[in-house]
Amino acid sequence: MTSHGEAPGPVALRLEARDVPLGGLRAMQVRRALPHRALPTIGAWCFLDRFGPQRATMRVEPHPHIGLQTVTWPLEGEIRHRDTLGSDVVLRPGELNLMTAGAGIAHSEYSMGDSPTELDALQLWVALPDHARHVDPSFETHRTLPTVELAGRGGAGTATVILGTLAGVTSPATAHTPIVGAQITVPAGATLPLPLEPAWEHGVLVVDGTATVADASGALAMPDDGGVLYLGTGRESVAVGSPSGATVVVLGGEPLAERLVMWWNFVARDHDEIVAAWHDWNGRSARFGEVPGHGGVRIPAPPMPDVRLTPRSRRV
Ligand code: MN
Repeated sequence: MTSHGEAPGPVALRLEARDVPLGGLRAMQVRRALPHRALPTIGAWCFLDRFGPQRATMRVEPHPHIGLQTVTWPLEGEIRHRDTLGSDVVLRPGELNLMTAGAGIAHSEYSMGDSPTELDALQLWVALPDHARHVDPSFETHRTLPTVELAGRGGAGTATVILGTLAGVTSPATAHTPIVGAQITVPAGATLPLPLEPAWEHGVLVVDGTATVADASGALAMPDDGGVLYLGTGRESVAVGSPSGATVVVLGGEPLAERLVMWWNFVARDHDEIVAAWHDWNGRSARFGEVPGHGGVRIPAPPMPDVRLTPRSRRV
């Protein structure tokens, strides 16, 4: 066991995902891999949901966030985002929505049309570090992102750099900590070297197909569908292979040296900050404002627990 911010060294830990019902009238089922009871964060990545593939009518009504960035990465289908800054954007696969909540923002996410449609996406949160967590909220859409070619055995793959830096190539999306999020296409029969930053911790998620991850000791045991293979720190690369083709996502960054108190849609440092956000949202304070086009409909913050919220700790 290490304390927060320390380097665990190279490990191979399966972080299995769990099924979670997403709130709202037409509830959707999601697979959640982060936070995990063994590990609250990978770098500053503090939340990882996969919704889909499923046929659904997505209606996530206006709800607030503080202290984090949301990273929306569609894999199939289109998602309409609206927020309290007046943004109204339809996002497609290969495109990134990055919402920086800072001191406070609210948004809604809908699928297109009124009937069920094929939907699949990753929804990730990045914890903002102390120096950035009270910034004014902002919203960015990136329709094109830089790529890196990974030449390997049996073929070459392409890595799309979603956030942060991979192999010296940096996403235009705003990052506040040393971080990487990238999607890698592995052709059938290929084994690619995936470059890692040794000072950072990393995890690998398979989003399509079947993939193997190996280091000098051999193949590493993979988690079940939707889970993350946590690699720890101290690695320069791993080999990612696939017999029939795969898409994988690598998440990593400098281990976060701040302990997070996470509750509902809020990321903070202590209980009282969460209580303040709860009152500001449910009291309709100007801190969050209104998302246009919803006629005042919103998801209220649920009752807070009777106990004081405490920071999540690492067990790795
Ligand atoms: Mn949200």
